[in-house]
Amino acid sequence: MTEFNTKLVHGKPQNDNNTGAVNVPIYNSSTYIYPSVDAKVKYDYERSGNPTRGYLEQQVAELENGYQGFAFSSGSAAIHAVLAIFKPGDHIIIGKEIYGGTFRLINEFLKRWQLEFTAVDTQNPQEIEAAIQSNTKAIYFESFTNPLLHVTSVKATSEVAKKYNILTIVDDTFLSPYLQRPLNLGADIVIHSATKYLSGHSDVIAGIVVVKNKEVAKRVYFNQNAIGSTLSPEDSNLVRRGIQTLSVRMDRHLTNAKKIVEFLQSRKEIAKIYYPGIPGSKDYEIAKAETDGFGGIISFELSEGLDSTKFVEGTKLIQLAVSLGAVESLIELPYKMTHAELSPEEQLKAGITHQLVRLSVGIEDSQDLINDLATSLDHLN
Ligand SMILES: *Cc1c(COP(=O)(O)O)cnc(C)c1O
Repeated sequence: MTEFNTKLVHGKPQNDNNTGAVNVPIYNSSTYIYPSVDAKVKYDYERSGNPTRGYLEQQVAELENGYQGFAFSSGSAAIHAVLAIFKPGDHIIIGKEIYGGTFRLINEFLKRWQLEFTAVDTQNPQEIEAAIQSNTKAIYFESFTNPLLHVTSVKATSEVAKKYNILTIVDDTFLSPYLQRPLNLGADIVIHSATKYLSGHSDVIAGIVVVKNKEVAKRVYFNQNAIGSTLSPEDSNLVRRGIQTLSVRMDRHLTNAKKIVEFLQSRKEIAKIYYPGIPGSKDYEIAKAETDGFGGIISFELSEGLDSTKFVEGTKLIQLAVSLGAVESLIELPYKMTHAELSPEEQLKAGITHQLVRLSVGIEDSQDLINDLATSLDHLN
């Protein structure tokens, strides 16, 4: 049982209930019996440990080739628990394009606890190196950024980090372990919003952390247990179930995305496409070298003068909603929806124009998706 797809379906069996059930039970128990006062029990209280959550945590640790996995009540809670391993006065380098919720957590919460941050273009290792100070403890970035799909090399970044003995932390939500395993490329911590591809059905909010070594694992476990933002047994089961079909879903996301990119390239209404699978860019070169696929998110700009609101409201099968990575296709306008928290100046600086559309490609028939996009584009003319 060593191949990746097999691991998705079969985690470590938990035949402790003698029923022969093929799936791990949902252990809805907040507390556990002590056989005696002095007994050394594996589980005593759910926040500290739960067998359903434990199954998921062990499975993601294996998928990412890490030392230990942790499941949280959201991706944001996972990011908080990781960044809370640092102390006041520590300095962290961050990618300049990061998820809006992470941006808010850093700027409006973690800075209040005297953590210091410098944002850099993580595509440029020299820029990372130049930002390193004596109190720098980590570099944090997203492998594929949102919404413009800029790709950072985990290898090049972690090489710089190792030279200065700082941690490399990767939010790999857009890729999932099926398309990239950052710990194998040199990272120390990988984070997922499991709300997205890992669970894959828009029915749960969850976060995952996997760490490479025991020392970091201890610090993350302390935060998980002490802060207490753990994933419930029911939700752990939903993520576990989603993971079983990760590879078949991702394969369809990839083939659909490729066909939709080809369609978009054929339309005069599309001014620019952001997708790492299009050859000729730095993003393509890095993604080709360090991933097993270019993902299921496509961003694109409509030509000047076309009504982007009318376009995203005009698709019927593709639903207008934030979030991504699920079986159903979702479309949105970043400047009004996912990235509305950025000021107009910040949006402009980040390349988020009013013409920019983000599409999370689902697993429907690609021709139906293309027909839907085509009809909405036709109505703009
Ligand atoms: C959604 C998302 C998050 C936050 O995860 P939640 O589960 O919504 O808390 C973090 N990073 C990225 C890249 C995301 O897409």
